[in-house]
Amino acid sequence: MSPEPLRTGETACDRCREPAVIHQRHAGRYLCGTHLTADLEQRVSETIASQQQVVPGDCVAVALSGGKDSTALLILLHRLFKSRDDIRLVAVTVDEGISGYREATVRSAEDLVRRLGVGYITVSFEELFGDSLDTILKGRETQACSICGILRKKALVVGAERAGATKLATGHNLDDEAQSVLMNVLRGDLMRLVRNSGADSGGRFIPRVKPLMYIQEKEIATFLMVQGIWEDLPECPYATHALRREVRSMLSGIEYRHPGTMLRLMENKKTVRTAFLGKTVAEPVGTCRECGDPCSGDLCQLCQLRHSLGR
Ligand code: SF4
Ligand code: ZN
Repeated sequence: MSPEPLRTGETACDRCREPAVIHQRHAGRYLCGTHLTADLEQRVSETIASQQQVVPGDCVAVALSGGKDSTALLILLHRLFKSRDDIRLVAVTVDEGISGYREATVRSAEDLVRRLGVGYITVSFEELFGDSLDTILKGRETQACSICGILRKKALVVGAERAGATKLATGHNLDDEAQSVLMNVLRGDLMRLVRNSGADSGGRFIPRVKPLMYIQEKEIATFLMVQGIWEDLPECPYATHALRREVRSMLSGIEYRHPGTMLRLMENKKTVRTAFLGKTVAEPVGTCRECGDPCSGDLCQLCQLRHSLGR
């Protein structure tokens, strides 16, 4: 069937002449919904294969907050692996206990796993740490994200362990990753780029993987619109991330004017990693003297936090 004639203002997909839904400026092409979906599947699958993020026999715990990145991640992984008997997906949702915010995202996560027929585990701060994030943060709201980040990390690992997972996949996208590279430079912490995320820790960590690390935020948002499943969810009331917000707006402006900037920033990460390959850049992995979790010092971040919160 030949495509419908384009309406005024519409641009044709470079692959099939249907109306385009996105202009991928970094690649200089226009794609329709069908070809954007095919393109994302192919690029995610290449990232997974090139870094061996998922291998036969894996059970992948997918961190599903219910927000757009993790929703797109679960849909794409499900599309890629649904016909494979040797790879299992389980969604893991952390309920931090943030009133007026988490209820909506948890509901959207539940709808999605039901629709896809994927296994599902939820863990809550209340169950793991005895209180909701709202309660833990009373009087410490300015430190919300650093406290929440440490607790969430632990909660995700507990969820992944309960699922019997061998990998933990998160929805970090190209924008997040490029922002992190730049933030490390701005903070004078370049070595963070080459630190190991646990793959060499004697198998005591469940390795974390980021299949969307080369997909732009804009591509994810458009993909979800094409899928017709993403509602506009509220933003976390504690989200301040002062530096990240500035870096985000600066980088997206530069990316617009100079397409490919984010990808080139990521190249720096690879270059620095290669330059340090084989040198002692992995964090020394020890054992926390209080909880026994793997950590780089004497006391893990979670136990340090427990001390500073007086818990
Ligand atoms: Fe936690 Fe900050 Fe994310 Fe809110 S924005 S869920 S406080 S890390
Ligand atoms: Zn097309």
